[in-house]
Amino acid sequence: MTDTGAPTLWRTLREAAAQTCALVAPRRCPCGREDTWLCERCAKLVEAVPCRVESCCDALQELSAARVREEQNGDLVLPAGVDHTPLLPVLALGEYGGDLQRLILAWKNGGMLHLGARIAPGLSPAVARLVEGAEGAAPFLVPVPSQRSARLRRGEDHTAELVRAMERCGAGRALLLRAQPTTAQEGQGARQRRTRRILLHGRAAREAGRRAAPVVIVDDVVTTGSTLRGMHQALTGAGMEVLGAVVVASARVPALRAAGKRTG
Ligand SMILES: [Zn+2]
Repeated sequence: MTDTGAPTLWRTLREAAAQTCALVAPRRCPCGREDTWLCERCAKLVEAVPCRVESCCDALQELSAARVREEQNGDLVLPAGVDHTPLLPVLALGEYGGDLQRLILAWKNGGMLHLGARIAPGLSPAVARLVEGAEGAAPFLVPVPSQRSARLRRGEDHTAELVRAMERCGAGRALLLRAQPTTAQEGQGARQRRTRRILLHGRAAREAGRRAAPVVIVDDVVTTGSTLRGMHQALTGAGMEVLGAVVVASARVPALRAAGKRTG
């Protein structure tokens, strides 16, 4: 058996590959620091405590109550107006900007696919937080599908690779569905415009739906949340139970986090 030898062999091969690459191109962290693929400071960015960001995603807000006048609810006085409840919880490692943005761009477009292996352990605690209190086995991790054109341009599917790396970290089971994002804007209603429609096909999606499998959506960056909304709609429509989403970075984060305070 090669069970015990395999990780060592893998490490040796990886190191050999890194050395070979270093001969051609010097090691450089996406932030610009030399002689390392990921410097200590950038490594800390992907090891950050995940924070909830769904309140910052406009397309994820559901209108939950509308009051024409002030109302008393127990000890609480509710002002006239509308309440918004986010469609699903979303956890991010940080705000999309600075070194975290450089790291994500290098991973997505800069040929540094190996960074996914460093991001995956950082996202695992976020999945654990979404699963807290839920019964049963590890959730399925579903990557947001890349546009076919982007996949062809890059030659790889970085979110699918990330999900595979997260499975190796024990965060859950990778569920790679055949999905097709569409850019078509169906209907004229505000909700339709806020949703990026995603079509699922294939047996894996039907199987997971039939078993009402608990799933966590995985993506690189969230901006308005319209893609996450589309995924939520496609997955729940197929019968799956969506526990939430985890992303590497969010275009906006709650004020406390932005100020550098840990909200946990
Ligand atoms: Zn760096």
